[in-house]
Amino acid sequence: MNKELLKFLCCPYCKDSLKMEARKIQIGNAYSDTCEDIVDGILLCLRCNNEYPVINGIPRLCKELFEQEKKELNKLKNITEVVIIRSKAIQNSDAYSQIEKIVRQRIKIPDNASGYLRKRLENDIYYRIKGCEKQEKYIKTLKLFCNHKLETILDIGGGQGGLIKSLTDFFHPTLSILLDYDLTWVEVARLRNPTVQIIRGDATNLPFKKGSIDLVISQMMLEHIKEYTKALVEMCEVAKETCFVCWGPNKFFIYDFGHLDAPVSIFPKKMAKYIAVLWHKIRKTRKSNTAIVDELENTHYISPLHVKKIFKNYGRPYNVFTNFALYSLENGYSENTKGIKHYLFIMRPIAKFIFKLLVFLRIEPQCYFVLKKGNGQAK
Ligand SMILES: [Zn+2]
Repeated sequence: MNKELLKFLCCPYCKDSLKMEARKIQIGNAYSDTCEDIVDGILLCLRCNNEYPVINGIPRLCKELFEQEKKELNKLKNITEVVIIRSKAIQNSDAYSQIEKIVRQRIKIPDNASGYLRKRLENDIYYRIKGCEKQEKYIKTLKLFCNHKLETILDIGGGQGGLIKSLTDFFHPTLSILLDYDLTWVEVARLRNPTVQIIRGDATNLPFKKGSIDLVISQMMLEHIKEYTKALVEMCEVAKETCFVCWGPNKFFIYDFGHLDAPVSIFPKKMAKYIAVLWHKIRKTRKSNTAIVDELENTHYISPLHVKKIFKNYGRPYNVFTNFALYSLENGYSENTKGIKHYLFIMRPIAKFIFKLLVFLRIEPQCYFVLKKGNGQAK
């Protein structure tokens, strides 16, 4: 972690400032001779006495530490002197083969998987290795709202780090930050982005000072957070000017394409369970009942009205689904919907009308909102 990052950080729980106790510092990296990176250390909150380890350059800013992180923290506590090292060789070029290895270890394709399941998993694996870097539609949408130099960008729940890579390459901020809870994905994100500041943390308790980040984004993460309202409020608090959030599916759109792949979004969870199980039985996908129940448990269907209401406390919300959908016709056809997207691309005015109608009826399949913060802070 870059020393500069400390200016933006605070205790995720009491929001007081943090004190850095470095154990290992690296001077210089592949991009600068003078920058100082904390490799190992402890971030201390003097108010609530929480200790957050920095391990291998990644600060772990949450209370729930994994066993290996706890062990590392104890080791760091027993070290008293600071080690200073010179920069290592330039980042190796085979980052992608390392990423692929990690992703395939994490997402295993069962031997008895049906053609349907195999295809879905292979698509997922490809997305996590390379596909996640194709984000022109996000850049084009955000460009409309960020028309000056951005100093800081934060991607919450940034996963494998594809979106933060394209945003960094386009906006060239002074500091790009990615936060994710998942130990595997933060490692992947770092392999992909050697200059991005990677943090392991919790979206419902963000470790950033109020109003400290120019652009805060979260892409397809919200629906996986039980306390999504709290996560939204935290995002709005941390953002200085602009906040972008998208999730799917919309609670008012019946079909869940991204997770359950069943018509369940509008139903109460208890009912949705039976519908999803039956749906997969009929289609003979061989998806197990436990997998379905697990997935349903971890997917929350959020209404656009709810998000709009929260955003209104902080400034002006914009529904950018239409822009986004039109840009997505231009870039990044997904194989599954190639036919219909190509047709809509040719008939752009009709497509635009359809997208606007979906927004008007509040049944856009996925929701895209930008918040421009006003003078008035939260009430
Ligand atoms: Zn604290």
